[in-house]
Amino acid sequence: MNWLRQVRIYTVFGSIVLFWSLPGFGGSLDSEKYSRVIWNYLETLCAFGPRNPGSEGYRETLDLIRKVGEKYADQVVEQPFLVRSSMSSSHEMVNLELQFHGTEGGAPILIGAHFDTRPFADEDPDPEKWSKPILGANDGGSGTAVLLGLAQYLSQHPVARPVHLVFFDGEDFGAKDSGMNLLGSTHYAQQLAQEDKAKWPYWVLVIDMIADKDLQIFKESYSQKGSANFLDKIYAVAKDQGNQALKEELKYTIYDDHYPFHRMGIPSTVLIDFDYPYWHTLQDTLDKCSIESMFSIFSVVAQTIRDL
Ligand SMILES: [Zn+2]
Repeated sequence: MNWLRQVRIYTVFGSIVLFWSLPGFGGSLDSEKYSRVIWNYLETLCAFGPRNPGSEGYRETLDLIRKVGEKYADQVVEQPFLVRSSMSSSHEMVNLELQFHGTEGGAPILIGAHFDTRPFADEDPDPEKWSKPILGANDGGSGTAVLLGLAQYLSQHPVARPVHLVFFDGEDFGAKDSGMNLLGSTHYAQQLAQEDKAKWPYWVLVIDMIADKDLQIFKESYSQKGSANFLDKIYAVAKDQGNQALKEELKYTIYDDHYPFHRMGIPSTVLIDFDYPYWHTLQDTLDKCSIESMFSIFSVVAQTIRDL
């Protein structure tokens, strides 16, 4: 199959970027436009600096998501919550949800990404850097940028089911084994558990760290266990689009924002490239990110939700 219908080379931001148009969209996915849109969002997020809760970059990120929501979403829902990290300190956090009602209704597809970045670079090779906040271009930035791009896309190309784009707070907040991670998704799932099951998502899809130049996404254990049919669907779309990044092998068991939903019995999937050498280091910067990788996931997700 000749999936590479059209290849053009542009110089964008000083680097060579390939844009291509993919089959299966009937021309509805403008790859050049959305590659630019997504990359612009990632650049903007990185220009805010570290975006850990309490930082200036965090506030600017919330403003950006709200603005995009007001412009493109059918409805924006804010879910504030308080996190107590000790007897004396608490942190105000918020999940932001951009809702698209869809053309036919039904249970929504929840697509999530964490917008916070890690407050400390605890995997940095240099111990002196361990207390510094990371920029999180890939970890936090890439998923957020793709979701913002999806907001723009869905406003122009609605799909049948409602789609809720959820920007989770506090995914990367605490030290390892502190129990202070996945805070936003855990809170969201707890709220959901009190709702009628008719309101629960049809499927939860989380994307995280999808910008690596050498993108390799292996199947993740909880995703395979709880959402095998949806994984099959994603992989079929990826294959159809000639996407080489999605690997058939099962490799990791990962506690990401899909996990609190998986635990409730909701089919939940994470797409993550966990083989990223700059994970939780100060080197997780924009120059490590690839728009081809991000766009390839964007287009797989856009097509997958169109078919559900
Ligand atoms: Zn992280």
